[in-house]
Amino acid sequence: MIDRSVKVRLFINEELSQDLDISLSSDQAKYLFKVMRLNIGQQICIFDGKSGEYLAQIVEKGPRLGKIRVGKKKKSVAIPPDLWLLFSPLQKNRTDWIVEKATELGVRKMVPLVTSRTVRKNIRITRLNSIMIEALEQCGGTFLPKLLEPVSLSDLIQLWKPDRQLIFCDESLSAIGNETNFSLIRKNKAAAILIGPEGGFSEKEGQLIKQIKNTVPVSLGPRILRADTAAVAAISIWQSINLLT
Ligand code: SAH
Repeated sequence: MIDRSVKVRLFINEELSQDLDISLSSDQAKYLFKVMRLNIGQQICIFDGKSGEYLAQIVEKGPRLGKIRVGKKKKSVAIPPDLWLLFSPLQKNRTDWIVEKATELGVRKMVPLVTSRTVRKNIRITRLNSIMIEALEQCGGTFLPKLLEPVSLSDLIQLWKPDRQLIFCDESLSAIGNETNFSLIRKNKAAAILIGPEGGFSEKEGQLIKQIKNTVPVSLGPRILRADTAAVAAISIWQSINLLT
């Protein structure tokens, strides 16, 4: 009989190496033994977000605890191309959605940005990290993106290193015909996508951003998208230029 337990993917928050014994948290034990009904001797897949995916065998089982032993490495870590997402924290669960989708699609870093029209000035890093981990468990990813504490747009502009292309999603361009500027997106070069808050960027911010060296203002089409839609669309467009050609 095929052991379907190897389909179970679990994130482990410590650096993995073969033969290591890992104690499970009570949530992990509950998931493996109560939800998935696994037993001693069965194998699962584990990953730590940075060193790839391993097989692991269940060696101890209890109602709220357990142990697994790390086995063979199955996959090396697949680090996505060097793309960052700079976004403004949004209302309600739209920030969760952006973080989940960016993790599935694959970015290296996410930077929450506080602009003049940002309504939510902070984020719940621990909660968002759990969302990223769940997304990875589900989508088969092995790389956990870095999520930074919010920074202000002015600090970002001051600290910006121009060797990274800044792809400025500029809603003011949506009114002007069909010129998207995607042809100016450089291939195989470090990049960052910049998305504004629900209220958009102020005119002054737009001017400041355009002055950053190596910035390309792009239009995502003739309609004004919600910030979360814009983030997913822009990542996909950048990836289609960088991954699929
Ligand atoms: N309230 C603003 C729109 C903000 S949309 C207005 O009515 O003008 C939120 C963010 O999504 C924008 O700041 C921009 O970064 C991005 N965005 C939405 N639609 C876009 C488009 N058609 N082109 C480029 N960026 C867009």
